[in-house]
Amino acid sequence: MKPVKQNQQPGMNCPECQTFIIMPVEHILAAGVFSCANPACSVELRLDSKRSTKSLDALETYAQAMNDLGKPI
Ligand SMILES: [Zn+2]
Repeated sequence: MKPVKQNQQPGMNCPECQTFIIMPVEHILAAGVFSCANPACSVELRLDSKRSTKSLDALETYAQAMNDLGKPI
């Protein structure tokens, strides 16, 4: 398994304001809708767990690693 770059928590930068949006893996797989953490920015990110993106793949890999460890966040 390739090491995943995890500086802190899983998530991505807002495409509008570059604020880092924390995306708990369980939330991604369940709902997949995130609001930007920046109060001045109203961006909503909608992630479809069935849609394969690079970032989502990385997060799924991360989730699987957590499952393997048996230590959910
Ligand atoms: Zn934003």
